[in-house]
Amino acid sequence: MFEIECPACGAAGRAPKQKIQTRLVCKKCLKVFYVTPSGKTVLGEPPATGQTATGVSPGRAQPDRTQKVDQWFDRASKRLFSPTSLILTVGLMLAVAAVYFSVWRPESLDYRVAQAARAAVQGDRRTIQELAATGSGDAVDAWYLSIRPKCDELLQRLGSNKLIVETTVTLQDPGRQWADVVARVSIEEGLERKGNVLPDASIVEIPASQPFSLPMAWKVDGMAGWRLDGGRTRELSKPAPAAP
Ligand SMILES: [Zn+2]
Repeated sequence: MFEIECPACGAAGRAPKQKIQTRLVCKKCLKVFYVTPSGKTVLGEPPATGQTATGVSPGRAQPDRTQKVDQWFDRASKRLFSPTSLILTVGLMLAVAAVYFSVWRPESLDYRVAQAARAAVQGDRRTIQELAATGSGDAVDAWYLSIRPKCDELLQRLGSNKLIVETTVTLQDPGRQWADVVARVSIEEGLERKGNVLPDASIVEIPASQPFSLPMAWKVDGMAGWRLDGGRTRELSKPAPAAP
């Protein structure tokens, strides 16, 4: 016996060795196929070589032969309920569930803050809007417009350099449902110097452009995960009152 697969629909089955080069009919999709001596399944009638075990001209369906094929496909369907198949099925379901949950899992706060800061500097208003928490779209837009001047200034100096966003959480509730953060945005310059192996602090280049800080307020917005809280972000962005 050897394992074969219907070349048309992929239904698995087994056949005895003498079935090589004979006409087989898939019980599932009713396509005619045959098995080559090397074990490959090929759609269509077997070649008329006259070397079939029974010497019957190939290409003509023999009722008894079709019956045998039916039997091995019956066996094939029983094999679907074997312990091995069951383990494979459960494993496949777990894999699908894992993919589903990894897709669903909300992005981390750090990731969202960096995404928002980059979008702000690069003038990507649309992404900023997408990051707004439910009901705070207008406030987020107002915040976006209020930070444009310093974002544009940085963007002009960015060129082909990399934008760096460092996030500091300044306040977070214990339930991790909201967080106040400060995103420090700067331009990475003198990249080649970073490859220097000498742990010499003097080698680190001071960026030519001044980094700036963007205070933001974030909250968990249900399934959407971390989203910008427009109202609170605007509060945080107001200049601090002068010290008494
Ligand atoms: Zn088939």
